[in-house]
Amino acid sequence: MPHGFSTVLVVNCGSSSIKYSMMAMDRGHLCASGLVEKIGENGSLLRHRADNAKGEPVESRREIKAGDHRAAFAHIAALLRNTGILADGAGPDAIGHRVVHGGEAFSAPVRIDPDVIAAIRTLSPLAPLHNPANLIGIEACLDAFPSASQVAVFDTAFHQTLPPHAYRYAVPNDWYERHGIRRYGFHGTSHRYVAERAAEYLGRSLQGLKMITLHLGNGASAAAIRHGRCIDTSMGFTPLEGLVMGTRSGDLDAAVPLYLETALGESADSLQAMLNREAGLKGLCGSNDLREVLGREQAGDEHARLALEIYCYRIRKYVGAYFAALGGLDALVFTAGVGENSPVVRSRICAGLEALGIAVDPEFNERSPEPVNEIGRRGQAVRVLAVRTNEELQIARETLSVLTS
Ligand code: ADP
Repeated sequence: MPHGFSTVLVVNCGSSSIKYSMMAMDRGHLCASGLVEKIGENGSLLRHRADNAKGEPVESRREIKAGDHRAAFAHIAALLRNTGILADGAGPDAIGHRVVHGGEAFSAPVRIDPDVIAAIRTLSPLAPLHNPANLIGIEACLDAFPSASQVAVFDTAFHQTLPPHAYRYAVPNDWYERHGIRRYGFHGTSHRYVAERAAEYLGRSLQGLKMITLHLGNGASAAAIRHGRCIDTSMGFTPLEGLVMGTRSGDLDAAVPLYLETALGESADSLQAMLNREAGLKGLCGSNDLREVLGREQAGDEHARLALEIYCYRIRKYVGAYFAALGGLDALVFTAGVGENSPVVRSRICAGLEALGIAVDPEFNERSPEPVNEIGRRGQAVRVLAVRTNEELQIARETLSVLTS
């Protein structure tokens, strides 16, 4: 590549896990990916996937000794070198880190330096489960791959264009000014990626489109995008707000946890854990896996039926709200596990939205997933698409754009 960055390692670090993807940017594709789990425990596990000489994907899985993230990266580096993906003794040219919270400090990806590390650390109280783990990954990579340029790509950055009337809550000013209480939004990398893919498919510039993107995975969020800028999004101060998710409640009267705290003596920590891990589809019907919920509904489970109705109704309400926020709509885009793969959920979400020019075509909707599937009824005002997200590729591209600008 003319600028000398052809291999990018994309890293997503959790407190006891590392997800990685090795991208060859000159060929525009993924050469290997994998996951280390149970870091710091006995029997850490390294799962790795790469194509063999015939271009067929081959998966390997083995126990490793990884007392910390540094040790885990040493195993990843050794594996990438042993399999010829990296040259002997070499590292990737660049590393792109997914960092969950950029607060108001970061509205774009940045090259990592000591000031950036300090700023990510300062933001840790806003994302106590994520930013500290992301920092561990950054520091371990500085050690394991000292010659690679490193970039932080923030989940919140795409939503920094929200206007104050969308990001402020109606609470005392002081809460915002002193404590940063506002809507930040998450999943930004995915919303941006699918919005750009959708515009490309439609043969239009993103600048000329009004779009709603629905990222429906285990976590779920909606974004309203006008002229390429995000103007509203459903996740808020934390990823808890908005749509019904696998295990998160989504929108909830703030008085509910306060009531449970005083009436039942539940601690703030336990309520926080319950709302994030035991609520959503799981709380309503016992499973957070949408395929399983659909199966249970088919078998006549009333809890599963109602859970799906609440799930789809909440999304439909957001589509209506964002239609109003945008002042019209050109495209509705579904993505992530559910959005890409579930025709039945897509059609239930769109049912009743014909008045807004939104309707799913039953035949197109059932087609097997492609990178982009147009599933809307032809001739409607709004184009409806299912677009396969690729956060790793987006992070790799943003990493290169920072390093080459
Ligand atoms: P994550 O947020 O963990 O990355 P994914 O984007 O992989 O999650 O989405 C996971 C969700 O997608 C699960 O609820 C899973 O059941 C759902 N899903 C995946 N494939 C299908 C399918 N064919 N039909 C319905 N739901 C699906």
